[in-house]
Amino acid sequence: MMFFIVYRCQPATRNENFTDCRMLTPYCTMSLNIPNLERNKPLAPFTTYKIGGLSDFFVEVHTIDALIQALLEVRHKAMPFFLLGCGANILITDKGFRGLVIHNVANKVTFSEGERVVAESGAIVADLLDQCCSRGLSGFEHFVGIPSTVGGAMWQNLHFLSPDRKRTIFIESIVQTSRILTEEGQCCTVGVDYFQFDYDKSILQKRKDIVLDVTFRLSAKQKAEIQAIMNANMAWRNAKQLH
Ligand SMILES: Cc1cc2nc3c(=O)[nH]c(=O)nc-3n(C[C@H](O)[C@H](O)[C@H](O)COP(=O)(O)OP(=O)(O)OC[C@H]3O[C@@H](n4cnc5c(N)ncnc54)[C@H](O)[C@@H]3O)c2cc1C
Repeated sequence: MMFFIVYRCQPATRNENFTDCRMLTPYCTMSLNIPNLERNKPLAPFTTYKIGGLSDFFVEVHTIDALIQALLEVRHKAMPFFLLGCGANILITDKGFRGLVIHNVANKVTFSEGERVVAESGAIVADLLDQCCSRGLSGFEHFVGIPSTVGGAMWQNLHFLSPDRKRTIFIESIVQTSRILTEEGQCCTVGVDYFQFDYDKSILQKRKDIVLDVTFRLSAKQKAEIQAIMNANMAWRNAKQLH
């Protein structure tokens, strides 16, 4: 597991009283042309560890268009932003985040021929797994029990041990293509090689590209076989207290 602390952008001041720190932030007085924008949003409920202060601005996006609109606006205004999935791999300080937090809940999932599924980046991996299992599509079962959105999974190349526990299975093994918004602001489709995946690594940690959706290539398998892998992985995770 990797943790990334969302630091506040302001340097520490003599008086660490939270109200005083907030008065110093340069972003409070700015405006953003983003629908359903909230201010001073507590971030703790949005992370696994339930800690963290306020975000100057916060928006929950339910569609990829809304995600793109928010990203283009915040980049246009040169305001710091943070894209939040399930919040399973981040820690937020009590001082919160100075700028905009975008909570990505765009989660449309489309199954197509050739055992392919296109999932928006806010889709929850556990939900995808359930849908795939009921269709007899194999690939996601290795990641059972791991809290993650599709976007978060791409960011760190989600992984777990193979059923024989002798190797690691990475999400990259089922990624075919992905639609991204590049840090230069272009929407384009890239292949799996673009991400330079490695253990706990992807290009998303080097470039400010944003994953919009991902096309996964799965394989047909008996539901019972998929379920057996899920059961074995959950038993292993529970035994190791990985929850
Ligand atoms: C109990 C527990 C067990 C875990 N077990 C495992 C495990 O077995 N294997 C494993 O690999 N990990 C594991 N993790 C780590 C965690 O589940 C993964 O890192 C997961 O992929 C995080 O996804 P998220 O949606 O919560 O991302 P977040 O924590 O919300 O964000 C993580 C990073 O991804 C970036 N990001 C999110 N969406 C996008 C996007 N659309 N485009 C670009 N960047 C994006 C965020 O900006 C942030 O930098 C575990 C975590 C917990 C709490």
